[in-house]
Formats: sequence, structure tokens, C-alpha cells
Amino acid sequence: MPPKYHIETSQAPNRFPKITRSGIIAWEEGCLKCARCVKKDCIYQVYEKRDLDDRQMLDSLDSACMDCFRCVQNCPNRLIHKGLNPAYRALGDHYWTPEIISELWFQAESGRIPVSGAGYGGPFSGPGFDAMWTDMSEIVRPTRDGIHGREYISTTVDIGRKAMALEFGPGGEIVSRTPPVVEIPLPVIFDMLPWAPPGDNIPLSFLYGALALGTFAIVRQSAINPIIREFLPYAIIYVDGDPGSLHAQMLRSLKIIEVPDGEDPIALQKRFKSMHPELVVMIRLRLSPGARERSLYLIEQGAEVLHLVADEYGLEGGSDPLFIKERMKDVHLHLVDRGVRDQVTLIGGGGIAMAEHMAKLIICGADALSIDIPLLVSMECRVCRRCKEGISCPVGLDDVDPLWGSLRIRNLMAAWHSQLLEILGAMGIREARRLRGEMGRAMFFEDLEKEIFATMGKRG
Ligand code: SF4
Ligand code: SF4
Repeated sequence: MPPKYHIETSQAPNRFPKITRSGIIAWEEGCLKCARCVKKDCIYQVYEKRDLDDRQMLDSLDSACMDCFRCVQNCPNRLIHKGLNPAYRALGDHYWTPEIISELWFQAESGRIPVSGAGYGGPFSGPGFDAMWTDMSEIVRPTRDGIHGREYISTTVDIGRKAMALEFGPGGEIVSRTPPVVEIPLPVIFDMLPWAPPGDNIPLSFLYGALALGTFAIVRQSAINPIIREFLPYAIIYVDGDPGSLHAQMLRSLKIIEVPDGEDPIALQKRFKSMHPELVVMIRLRLSPGARERSLYLIEQGAEVLHLVADEYGLEGGSDPLFIKERMKDVHLHLVDRGVRDQVTLIGGGGIAMAEHMAKLIICGADALSIDIPLLVSMECRVCRRCKEGISCPVGLDDVDPLWGSLRIRNLMAAWHSQLLEILGAMGIREARRLRGEMGRAMFFEDLEKEIFATMGKRG
């Protein structure tokens, strides 16, 4: 049995006051000037320690309050109230919701799974990943022990092309060449960000994080400098410049390289592999309605790994875009139908915001995923996109300490790993590899809706 994969966590405190869901509203007007104000009775000394974070203009009252409601209940003139914090509601957007952002902050700070305490409070259906449920029917069976130690649940996956058969020579020796495969202990790689403040600190946090977790971070060729060069063994270089400038010595320090889909990515793959045969080459494809035919074509030409990328909302390109989980199902099933699915590794990325999305995309056919924005959010990003406009970051992410950043990423991934184990255990599956394409173990809202309403209105 392989050694058990474990992610060490430790508390990584926020650098800035958190933006909390509820805020305190305390009116001065009408104050009775009681001899002993209820504010003095706050056992957390929230009013006494009150401060203003002038970078974000945030009152510490909101982030320090523990929601005990003591002051709210005891003020005789009802001048203290708690309400939904407008700064919280303004976080992110319709997809990167305040709830998702604040849960990512919690996981990155603590390394723990967020527990609601009073059952599931989220939606039971909705767009995207919310329209899919996993089958947790094994929740009380022995495989669940794997989460807590007695049985092992593996989250390791392979990146590379698989040989479908071995060929033997006359003497019984293996004569077929097995393509190179890279194992990662967690089905996640770190992708390039759609937007971020400039500088090396964020990519360095990703690379330190990748090193600690045993995975890889994608780095643009154009971003390589002497500092980043030190981390090449944990990087996947994305070729966004002249491939000729990537010399053999640099390629030999890599395990994986990524090339964009374009005129002839297979020619580029052959070129890199002639210089370093053990290199795994990923081809990055923008998800689109043509993705299934393009994927099939590239696999027939010898592609090893296809990285299928949606936008930051999980949508493919085109005028009537499908969500990533639908297109991933479509590509996966098409490749199964053509008998080539097992030869290739499919990595999906774009719109992965929560741990459950990881399991759901694997069920839809991905071998592994790439994540981007959650890593930035783990370092306190507010998803305000000011950096996209070239405006300064309210939480100074350009100055972030890469060691602190990597600790937050490690904590986040530990929480996601624990949640993946929970899902695998509850489904009675002991390997993330075996979760791939297990669509029979999930329910899809659209399918149920069709099934239920198909016969309605029909006369027998
Ligand atoms: S609600 Fe409780 S914790 Fe919050 S300020 Fe009032 S007394 Fe303090
Ligand atoms: S907080 Fe805003 S400006 Fe800073 S990295 Fe996040 S999106 Fe960009």
C-alpha cells in the first residue's frame, strides 16, 4: 500500500479584518446614557477594542463580533441591531458569491471543513454544479473508515498517455515503449490566473504550495525569471512565447509542459519530446461546442493530456455556451464511444470554486482539475477585479509573503482533500481514479426533470 497522503495544516491568520456576513448597527440618537452601557458587557470587548482598517475602510466591530446578540437584546432603547453587512453582499459576483468567498477564507485560515452546524443551508438545485447530486448511499458502510484511518482512500491520479497493451519480443521481453506518466497525490493542479496584481509573489506562493502538496503550478513561459527558474521542477511551463527559446537543459528540469491548441500542437509536442522524451505534454484547449471532435482528433494524432478550459464562470466559448460539467460529459462520453478515452488524461478547469465541484467534475469525466481563483481567494482576495483594471489591490496581494500564501493554499487544499475523502467514502469508492466518469452514481437535475415530466400531458 502506498504511504498515506496527508496534508499538514496550521493556523494561518488573516492579514486584514474579515468581511463578515452580519454587521452591527448602533444608533447614538435616542441613547439614554445608562450608567452601565450594554457595550461594556460584551465578553469579547468588541466595542472597547474597536478600530478602523484604513486600507479597506472596515470597522473592526463587524469582524470581531461573535454574534451572541447580548448587546442587541440588552440595550433598553433597542438602539443596537445586527443586519446583513453591505460590504459582504458586495463581495464577488453572481458566481463567486460572498458565501463561497467567505468559506474559502475560512478553509485557508484553518485547514478545516466549514460546518454549518444546523444541516445543509445551501440550494438543492440551481445552475451549474448545483444541478447535480452525488450518491452518498454508502455513508454508513465500512469504506467510510478510510477517512479516519483504518482503510486507505487514494486521491492519486496519473497525468499522461496510457499504453493500452504491452508488446513482447521473442524472448518475452517488453518491447513496447510505455509513455511517461506523472503521478499527483491530489487530482488538482494550479492554473494561471485570469487576473491578478503584478509581481512574483503570487506565482511564488503557488509554486511553494505545489511543492508542499506534491502537485504542479502552471507558469507562463513569458513570466520565467531567475527567481521562478528555481522552482521549475514544480512548474508546468505554458508555452506563450518562442518555443525555440526553451532549451534542452531547461526542459530536462520539467516533468510537464503545456502548449496552446493552435495550428499544429502535435508538432510542438514531438519537438519537445525529441529533446526530452520523459516530458509529458499537455495541450490547452478552450472549451467549445467543437471540443469533442477536436479532442478525438488530437488523441488520434498522439496527444497525451488535454487540458479543457472554461472561463472563470465555468462557461465554454460561443453564443450559447454550455457549462463545463455538460461539455466535459459530452467530451468524455464521445471518447468512450470511440474507444480512446483510456488512452488520454483529461484535465478540466474554469469555474471550480468549491471542493464538491472537484468531485462533480471528475464524475463528469475529468481525471483531474485545474484551479485558479480559489487560490487567490485563499490569500484574502475579495474578487473585486480592481487588479484587472490596473487599480491597486485592497488587500495588497502584490506584497504577499509567498510562505504565508503557500500556507493558506496548503490549508485550503487540506480542507478540499478532506471533503473529497468524505465524498469518496460516502460513495463507497476507494480511489479518485475510479470516480472518473461514474455518472451512474450521480443525479442530474435536467435528466430527472425530463424523466418526471416526459409523460405529463400525454394521453395513454
Ligand atoms: S453581539 Fe455579542 S459579541 Fe457582538 S458586539 Fe454585541 S455583545 Fe459583543
Ligand atoms: S482583491 Fe481585488 S484587486 Fe486584489 S487580487 Fe483580488 S480581485 Fe484583484
